[in-house]
Parts: sequence; C-alpha cells; structure tokens
Amino acid sequence: MSEVRSIVVVGAGTMGSGIALTAAMSGIRVHQVDVADAVLERARAAHRKILARNVEKQRMTQAEADAAVGRVTYTPDLGAARDADWAVEAVLERADLKKEIFRQLVEQMRPDVVLASNTSSISITQIGASVGQHAHRVIGMHFFNPVPVMKLVEVIKGLATSEETTARTIALAQKMGKTPVPANDRAGFVSNRVLMPLINEAFYAWMEGVAEAEHIDEIMKLGCNFPMGPLRLADFIGLDVCHDIMMVLYHELGDQKYFPCPKLRQLVTAGRLGDKSGRGVFEYAK
Ligand code: NAD
Repeated sequence: MSEVRSIVVVGAGTMGSGIALTAAMSGIRVHQVDVADAVLERARAAHRKILARNVEKQRMTQAEADAAVGRVTYTPDLGAARDADWAVEAVLERADLKKEIFRQLVEQMRPDVVLASNTSSISITQIGASVGQHAHRVIGMHFFNPVPVMKLVEVIKGLATSEETTARTIALAQKMGKTPVPANDRAGFVSNRVLMPLINEAFYAWMEGVAEAEHIDEIMKLGCNFPMGPLRLADFIGLDVCHDIMMVLYHELGDQKYFPCPKLRQLVTAGRLGDKSGRGVFEYAK
C-alpha cells in the first residue's frame, strides 16, 4: 500500500479546514481548496490560531507548529489536486455539487488515488455511480466536528467500493490519529440517523414551548449526561447543515419524522445558521 504523503481537501469550511489541519499535523502535505477566497483566509487564520494555542499549552513545539503550517497551501484552484495522493471532499451537503467535484477529481488525479467524501448523509453508492468505472475508489470518510479533537471517523463503503480502498482509508484515519468505525451505506449512516431526529425533536419541544431553549439543553445535559445540549450542538454543526442532512434522510428514508421542524427551517431562512453566523438558537460573540 503506497503511503499517503499529500492530500487535497476540497472545501475549507468548518469540516474541510479541520480535516486539512489534522492531516498537516500528522505530517501530510495538504492542498486546501475552496471557491471562496474569504473562506480560505479564515481557514488559514484558524489553523494558525489552533496551532498557537497548542504551543501555548505545550502540546507541541513551535517548530512542530511551524512545520504543520508549512505543509498547507491554500488555493481556489482544484488543479492543485493533480499531484496529491488522496482526496477528501468536504463541500456543502448537496449531492449534485459533490458529484460534480468527484467528476473533476477523477479527471485531475492519478487512477490509484482514493476519493473520499466527508458527507453526513448522502449515499456513497450514488456518489460512486457518478464516476462510473472509478466507483471502486469512492468511500465515505466521515469526520466529526471539531476534527482535530474528535476521535471518530465513520467509514462507509458504497456498493462498488473496493476492499483495497477500504483498507487504505482505515490506515489513513489511523495515521491521522483517529478511530475508524464501519457503517453501512444508508442515509445518515449511524451517527446522523440517530442524532438528527434527536435535534429535530429538540426544535419541536422548543417551538411548542415545552421549555426554554437553554432549559431543553440543560435537561438533556444533566439528565442524559450529554456534554452539549441538542440545540447548542445544532448551532455548532450549523443549522443549514442540519437542515440539509434532515432533507436527505426525509427523501431517502421516506418518513415524515425526518422532515426539519418549522422552527429550524425558519432560522435557516433568516440566515441564523449557528456559531458560523454569530447567531442560531443562541447568540455568539463574533
Ligand atoms: P461549510 O458550509 O462550513 O463549508 C462548506 C464549504 O464548501 C464552503 O466553504 C464553500 O465555500 C465550499 N464550497 C462550495 N462549493 C465548492 C466548490 N465547488 N469547490 C470548493 N469548495 C466549495 O460546511 P461544513 O460544515 O464544513 O460541511 C461540509 C461537509 O461536511 C458537508 O457534507 C457536511 O454534511 C459534512 N459534515 C459536517 C459536519 C459538521 O458538524 N458541520 C460534521 C461532519 C460532516
């Protein structure tokens, strides 16, 4: 199995920037790609800030932090993917957009390169089918937020994903300090199949006035030992991301219970997306 020395991470938002930093901290060279220059700048600043904090807390030396920063290039050009050994796609949770990115990656990259998607809910088989004979290279590599901290990578094989692709994905996740766990290719896999209905129900409880938002979260933290309440977690994930995942679950599984609560839909429509926009269910200092 050839070693992964460089990786392209497409999308530099919440997840893409975290995946890029984690890879760089594991000694892998990274091309961080996004269509939005402002997002690339934000990712660069976030990387520097997180590394500086790690140095401050003596989790790494200044030399290690400098080396990690030096491994990342930030670019709007997907052509930078050409020489990379691996691809992780982390753009918006839209099937058509992801398929288009995968088609471009197939055109740009060597035929031995694995093409992984960080999708939360979209079928890996469907993404694989969009690249025809290259479907054996496509796999779900589902990281969790914040990526540098969270240990889990859900590994999802599509119908055509090869054993070699799967074995290499497990090896890369481990190299990045993560614990890979397999899940089958059903909408939302395990994590979001279970989490999104919980978040949606918390929105219904809030909308129906069962309790104030902060009390819903406090009850779930103290009563169920959750580290974060479901409404706070929804803001942290991004309300637009939660909405998009719920729509995939709803369409794929055909059950009304997955349809996003009107209160969640209203906040997304208003641009109140959670931490990333400064306001969602709760307010955050910019
Ligand atoms: P985000 O909105 O923070 O970032 C998405 C990025 O994709 C944006 O910066 C956007 O500019 C970029 N983008 C859009 N079109 C592009 C293109 N053609 N080429 C390059 N970049 C493009 O979203 P996110 O929260 O980082 O989610 C990304 C993916 O990760 C989604 O599939 C989501 O479901 C999944 N995910 C999210 C979480 C979470 O907690 N937010 C957790 C696990 C997985």
